[in-house]
Amino acid sequence: MKKRELLYDGCEKMGISIAEEQIEKLLEFKDIVLEFNKQMNLTSIKNERDFIIKHLLDSISCLLINEVQDNIKIIDVGTGAGFPSIPLKIMLPSIKLTLIDSQSKKIEFLKEACAELGLTDVEFIHGRAEEYGQNLEYRESYDLVLSRAVAPMNVLTEYCLPFLKVGGNFVCQKGPRLNDELMEAEAAILVLGGNVKYVKSVSLIFDELNHKILVIEKISKSPTKYPRKSGKPTEKPIA
Ligand code: SAM
Repeated sequence: MKKRELLYDGCEKMGISIAEEQIEKLLEFKDIVLEFNKQMNLTSIKNERDFIIKHLLDSISCLLINEVQDNIKIIDVGTGAGFPSIPLKIMLPSIKLTLIDSQSKKIEFLKEACAELGLTDVEFIHGRAEEYGQNLEYRESYDLVLSRAVAPMNVLTEYCLPFLKVGGNFVCQKGPRLNDELMEAEAAILVLGGNVKYVKSVSLIFDELNHKILVIEKISKSPTKYPRKSGKPTEKPIA
C-alpha cells in the first residue's frame, strides 16, 4: 500500500477525517525525522510503513479523545522527536503548543522541523518537567498535557499534573501494563489533584497496534511541594 493511502485509510478506519494538505505535511515531517535520524538518534523506527503506523497514526489516534481539541493550550512532556504533538499540531493548527524535553538535541531538532513545516504558536523548552512544573509561568497553566512513552504512571503523574489548570486534562498513551501502572499510581493521582476519567482502547490499521489512551482530569490544585527535585519522582515515586 502506498504511503498516502496508508495514512488516509488509517485515519478513515479510526473515523478521523484528514485533508490532502495534512497528509502532505505529515509525510514531510516523516521525511525530516528520518533525514535527521541519519545523524542523531531520534527514533529506532526507520521503516517508512512502520513510521506511518507507529508514529503518525498512533499520534493522530489522540483525536479520538474529545478533550483533545483545537484552540487550547497544550504541553507535550518528554516529546522526543515530537510525538504525539507534532502530528496533532498538523491536524489541529490552532492549538498553542509547548514542547518540553530534557535532551537539547531533540529540542534543537524540533525547532528546525517546525520551521521547515511552517508550524507557528509552538514554544520549545529544553529542560526537565520537574523543574518547569515549579516555574510559575508554566505551572497550572495548560488545558491539556500529553505524554507518550516517558515514564511509568506513578512517576509521569508527578511530571504532568502540576502543568494542568484545574479542569484541564492529562491524556496519556499507554501499552498493555496500564492497569498495573494505574494501581501503582493511585496515590500519586490523588495527591496531585487528579481523577481518572476514562480509558479508551484504540486499535490502529488492520489491528497491527493496540493501545490504550488514559484521560485524567485535574479536579484540584497540586500541592506546591510537587514536582519534587529532578530525579526524585523516579527515585521515590509518591506511594
Ligand atoms: N514522546 C516521544 C515518543 O513517544 O516518541 C519520546 C519518547 S522517549 C522514549 C522519552 C523522552 O522523554 C526522551 O526524549 C527523554 O529525553 C524525555 N524525558 C524523560 N524524562 C524527562 C523529564 N523528566 N523531563 C523532560 N523530558 C524527559
